[in-house]
Amino acid sequence: MKKKYTIGVDLGGTNIKVALVDNQGNIINKIKAPTRVVDGPDKIIDRVIILITELMKSVSPDKLNGIGIGAAGEVDHQEGKIWFSPNLFWKNVPLVAKIKKKINLPVILENDANAAAWYMHQLGPAKGVDNLICVTLGTGVGGGIIINNKIYHGWKGKAGEIGHMTLFSKGLKCNCGNYGCLERYVGASYIVERAVKKIKKGEKSIIKDKVSGDWSKVTPRLLEKAARQGDKLSKEIWAETGEYLGIILASVSTLLDLEMIVICGGISKAGEVLFDSLKDTLKKRVFGKSPGMVRLVHGKLKEDAGVIGASLLYY
Ligand SMILES: [Zn+2]
Repeated sequence: MKKKYTIGVDLGGTNIKVALVDNQGNIINKIKAPTRVVDGPDKIIDRVIILITELMKSVSPDKLNGIGIGAAGEVDHQEGKIWFSPNLFWKNVPLVAKIKKKINLPVILENDANAAAWYMHQLGPAKGVDNLICVTLGTGVGGGIIINNKIYHGWKGKAGEIGHMTLFSKGLKCNCGNYGCLERYVGASYIVERAVKKIKKGEKSIIKDKVSGDWSKVTPRLLEKAARQGDKLSKEIWAETGEYLGIILASVSTLLDLEMIVICGGISKAGEVLFDSLKDTLKKRVFGKSPGMVRLVHGKLKEDAGVIGASLLYY
């Protein structure tokens, strides 16, 4: 029998958010503190423990399922370890063991993209959908896969890293060291980079006047506005982004026979300028003639989705 409350933790490179969440995903109480990555794992974990302990004062321990943590990076949920986190600069940190030493409660650790997928499955548009992928589009491109109503972790917990699937065999170098990764073409800064490169080459766009030569002012939001105003180059950039995403997602869907693809994160706010070409590409490329086509939906992540998603890992 599940209990009424869970403590959710969103461990990010900028902030640590901790919340007491009820079994319906409502936040009862929340606190946050800066992560201060330079302090290193031990001090940061001490800070997480202080925040959790503070929240535990407001509820009796027998009403708590435990602690659910979502963290960016390569997470081994079985061993409770963070193997590598590019946001926190951690390597091989036994996070769960360190917390359990100080707090006598169950602790579940999960990759943040998996926690987001679980949030969509429990409270978002993927409620009642058994097989899906949730893609988070931002600076990075993350993915969480749900198969038969469960998070699919793979062998070592690394499943779902859709951003590092190869799109072009001789493509540009990605942060991960590989070449031609999807993230290198649809991550926020790279969408901007592609647009700026084209304008510098002489392609016409209203963006040029909007930023009056200061290329640092070009943002995905600006490209979205320009596309809506009919700017040909901006429209092309979004259509291309949707196609790139669609090519990889069609392959993923063909492999796994998914029912739904949920797209969320900052870049997804571009809306139809991105979604139209993504939808077209899926229609063209997903294999099979049987009735039923993978559904594409826009999943909105509200501000506290990270802590809520982490708390829902107990359900
Ligand atoms: Zn990569």
